Amino acid sequence: MSYDYQNIRKDFPILDQQVNNRPWVYFDNAATAQRPLAVVEKIQEFSLRTNSNIHRGTHFHAIKTTEAFENSRDIVRNFLHAKEREEVIFTHGTTESINLVARSFSEAFLREGDEIIVTEMEHHANIVPWQMACERHRAILKVIPFADNGELQTDLLETLISDRTRIIAVAQVSNTLGTVNPVKEIIRIAHRHNVPVLVDGAQSVPHITVDVQDLDCDFFVFSGHKVYGPTGIGVLYGKRRWLDAMPPFLGGGEMIDRVTFEKTTYNELPHKFEAGTPHYVGAIGLGAAIQYLQNIGIKEIGAYEHSLLTFATDRLKELGNLRIFGESPSKTGVICFQLDQIHPFDLGTLLDQLGIAVRTGRLCADPVMDHYGVTAMTRASFACYNTTEEIDLFIKALLRIRTMF
Ligand code: PMP
Repeated sequence: MSYDYQNIRKDFPILDQQVNNRPWVYFDNAATAQRPLAVVEKIQEFSLRTNSNIHRGTHFHAIKTTEAFENSRDIVRNFLHAKEREEVIFTHGTTESINLVARSFSEAFLREGDEIIVTEMEHHANIVPWQMACERHRAILKVIPFADNGELQTDLLETLISDRTRIIAVAQVSNTLGTVNPVKEIIRIAHRHNVPVLVDGAQSVPHITVDVQDLDCDFFVFSGHKVYGPTGIGVLYGKRRWLDAMPPFLGGGEMIDRVTFEKTTYNELPHKFEAGTPHYVGAIGLGAAIQYLQNIGIKEIGAYEHSLLTFATDRLKELGNLRIFGESPSKTGVICFQLDQIHPFDLGTLLDQLGIAVRTGRLCADPVMDHYGVTAMTRASFACYNTTEEIDLFIKALLRIRTMF
């Protein structure tokens, strides 16, 4: 069966509107994806009929809510192919998941003079928490560089790993370059040196199937809002052996076992890392989003988005005097570019006037800007509901803007 984007678009009523008197073209999906009716309706129905706080209640709706929340954990476990449901922790997003690991893992395992490795193409969320951990523990941050075409220089990893390396943190897909990094290979190399690896899956889970057991990653993190789910919910997957050995991140709520003023003991996984009232509504919405994604098929979505990427890249190149940042053969539907000498902020504003939403600026990736010696980029990123007709509108808009300069 061919990919039925027209039917898919019907699931996203938000797309069917005009902005500045033109059909709205949403190419800012790497920042956040839109939510299908299945997610909106699930949250609405839950909020109208069921809502009660989880875990502690003995009444009907508290039990129902707890079941729905825990069912979402099972959906995520299945989505990531985690071995155990207790290895799936709900957080508020990728950023919090990384901060949790950077804080808690470092407290247990990072000592003065130790080393952490990240890559040059990381989002700030996968740099700053590690830098903070290094400052706290007087450790050293090392960086795997990428080549100008956007490919990670994985061959340098062996030279960067030492007997002081404690963890490696790497994005599976770059939010600027779109590069799909060879994380399985990186993990294989790291494990040869007994070094665990955290994979930032914020930009990968909407586009490629992930199997944490096959990857053999030690941690995997992603955000709900980039997989067609709600904001404020995210996931940390961690192998039990690490999570068991790490101290809690935040205190209070379901993370306790028993509290006295002399000493508090902590709950089992996953609750040990879920302090306070979790965003259970978000988790239930995320479950619905993942089911929606799985119903279409992530492989099908990835292949379709790749056809959009190829189409858009070819059309952009026809414009001439256009620089694309990141041209790895292994890429998701993300294109960062510079057109003529037009500043990305001007380009973004003018595109918006023509109904087209893109992202401009430093894209939370200053080191990528520094690599190419630019202060900003324009980014178009595609999702399951975008079309070649929208890309045509985008190209037409760029041609029109060019005539204004
Ligand atoms: N890592 C990557 C690769 C991202 O693209 C993003 C979001 N732009 C993040 C981390 C942070 O995600 P969030 O803001 O949802 O915590």
